Amino acid sequence: MTTSNRIALALAGVGKIARDQHIPSCENGSDFAITVAISRNAVIDGAENFSSYDAFLDARQNGKTDEIKAIALCTPPDVRFDMAKKAIAHGFDVLMEKPPAATIGEAEALKELADKAGVVLFATWHSRFANGVEPARQWLAGKTIEKVEITWKEDVRRWHPGQAWIWEAGGFGVFDPGINALSILTAIIPGQTIVERAKLFFPENRQQPIAASLAMKTAGGAPIAAEFDWRQEGPQTWDIVVETKEGRLRLAKGGAELYIDDSLTVEGPDREYARIYDRFAGLIRERRSDADFQPLRLVADAFLSGERHIVEAFVE
Ligand code: NAP
Repeated sequence: MTTSNRIALALAGVGKIARDQHIPSCENGSDFAITVAISRNAVIDGAENFSSYDAFLDARQNGKTDEIKAIALCTPPDVRFDMAKKAIAHGFDVLMEKPPAATIGEAEALKELADKAGVVLFATWHSRFANGVEPARQWLAGKTIEKVEITWKEDVRRWHPGQAWIWEAGGFGVFDPGINALSILTAIIPGQTIVERAKLFFPENRQQPIAASLAMKTAGGAPIAAEFDWRQEGPQTWDIVVETKEGRLRLAKGGAELYIDDSLTVEGPDREYARIYDRFAGLIRERRSDADFQPLRLVADAFLSGERHIVEAFVE
């Protein structure tokens, strides 16, 4: 990969999302070149490869890999804090996959550390970059919201095969996809969203929920119901419906399609990660962070207020 005119990027954690999105987005874009890869199990062709994070940082300390100015952390959330903290201490601009950290305390500490160090912190929410989301926000501005319904139902075996971490404490369970819906919700609805009640459904052999029902409300008091379920086989559903006094909005396919009063008004090819890297480049140019932790707060509030229900064991 050429580094000329591109920002030299280190990428840590070469798993599903790194392969599916980060690597192709950098290759196809014009702003970043992955010149360093940090992975315990994989290599990226054309990059300098390190098998441990500390080995990479040691090399950096010793004056090697000096060209690296930014890092993308594509690991699971429970290891993100330590990695991001070290990256900030080394002066890198940092892009974090969602969810930004395992707890709100960690996320806020990272923001404070980044601000003090003068580095850019980009807590990404990829679903916010789906085609329909910004047009949905604009359409809803100034309208009177009466009710919101979120249905986020997918097959965990299909989307998270072999990901043991996702079921462990700090792995988020069904909130790993559910937080994507909450990231869209908090982008398109003005004001604070408040969790009132939640029901969390834990397989008897797992630490994290396989399904959740949330009762929330907008700052104006309109009800928001969310159903997250990882047991859906067949067609998959990632829908948000907003009823307003002035009409009905539906975001389908995770925000990729926008319907107003049942007519399709926005669709197109998936550009979520292309837009993420455009934004990261813009933030670096402007020396500005983008770190909004509202979706993480809603998940934390669901755990704080949630009833625990035990359901059938999950065996992959
Ligand atoms: P994954 O396939 O399990 O990959 C995560 C990678 O992180 C692993 O391959 C491993 O990379 C590294 N890693 C795992 N545990 C680690 C540990 N304890 N210490 C250091 N590195 C560790 O998971 P993923 O689906 O790519 O998800 C990663 C993040 O992206 C999650 O926060 C997830 O929510 C988010 N995300 C995923 C998707 C998706 O469709 N899967 C979509 C959007 C966002 P090495 O083997 O290279 O060390």
